[in-house]
Amino acid sequence: MSARRVDLLVAGGGPAGLVTALHAARAGLDVEVWEPRGGTVDKACGEGLMPGALAELHRLGVDPAGHALRGIRYTAGTTSVDAAFRRGPGRGIRRTTLHDALREAALGAGARIVPRRVGAFTQDDTGVLVDGVRAAYLVGADGLHSSVRRAAGLDLPAAPRPRFGLRQHFRVAPWSDLVEVHWAAHAEGYVTPVAPDVVGVAVLAATGGGYDERLRQLPELADRLRGAEPVSEVRGAGPLHQRVRRRVAGRVVLVGDAAGYVDALTGEGLALAFAQARAAVAAMVDDDPERYERDYLRVTRRYRWLTTALLAATRPAVGRRVLVPAARLLPGVFARSVDALARPVD
Ligand SMILES: Cc1cc2nc3c(=O)[nH]c(=O)nc-3n(C[C@H](O)[C@H](O)[C@H](O)COP(=O)(O)OP(=O)(O)OC[C@H]3O[C@@H](n4cnc5c(N)ncnc54)[C@H](O)[C@@H]3O)c2cc1C
Repeated sequence: MSARRVDLLVAGGGPAGLVTALHAARAGLDVEVWEPRGGTVDKACGEGLMPGALAELHRLGVDPAGHALRGIRYTAGTTSVDAAFRRGPGRGIRRTTLHDALREAALGAGARIVPRRVGAFTQDDTGVLVDGVRAAYLVGADGLHSSVRRAAGLDLPAAPRPRFGLRQHFRVAPWSDLVEVHWAAHAEGYVTPVAPDVVGVAVLAATGGGYDERLRQLPELADRLRGAEPVSEVRGAGPLHQRVRRRVAGRVVLVGDAAGYVDALTGEGLALAFAQARAAVAAMVDDDPERYERDYLRVTRRYRWLTTALLAATRPAVGRRVLVPAARLLPGVFARSVDALARPVD
């Protein structure tokens, strides 16, 4: 029996996979997304869309509801420093709301979403064969622990000093329209308003331990949340740092976290995933996948630089102690760094 043919098979129906499918369907490709999890997909995420990510969604005509984000506040104990986004607000958007909006847009554009997992595949010069389906290209958008990446031989050994993230939502009126980053000796807490009565709180740390234990390391934040009803279960993800040899292997192309990830501490994962999806589809439409390898390095350069530098600076205890006072002393530098996060990824 001959294989059924599609132009593009996307492994993973998270934000990267759905935006890839949306661009591809609008470019006239026959697209199928395989996502094993049915219904609305949730995930551990800080849920802060930087202004560049929001602009990328608006370019696609997707406008999910959420809470406007005016900038970023770094805080440690009683010291804090704010910087506003200079190019318009970002938005705190629940992952479930984002997923529903992207899914609807992808389906509306003609993509098919199928409840299947991408397993073993083979490829030749003209396509990829996956479980009876022959696709001109296979996109691995299957997240941090991408099995497509592994099967294509694109994994690199695990990075040292792994960090993990956990998040939960609380019913409480947001006390700020800034993303608040609370710095402590061994953890950071990220507060993102996502609705008039709900905030999401993500905690990142290199150490193990449960959510409550990590939150106890951030007493000012724990005080804010005292008595607030948790309105979601705790979800986690990690190790965050995923190193990747390259993003293209023949007709297999990686986007989103599958393509490599440094850390969540600058909140840029979604902006990058959307920009990568756009660049990857443009390269596949022109049948020039290697161009995406170059475009990937270009669109992620600033993120890789800034995130690696911030991680290195805040790994030693002294770096974490001086970060917020230093940002207060050098408000121009802090404002420029926040502006860099807000810029469109191109
Ligand atoms: C704690 C934390 C906080 C964060 N905060 C922010 C933030 O504030 N702002 C921001 O922009 N980013 C943030 N990020 C990063 C952001 O969440 C990710 O960059 C984003 O989810 C990447 O989307 P993705 O589609 O690549 O992967 P995912 O969202 O992980 O989706 C991958 C999908 O692939 C599916 N899948 C897996 N294996 C297969 C397979 N074999 N076949 C088919 N499907 C498969 C999975 O079911 C899943 O639905 C944060 C991340 C963490 C962990």
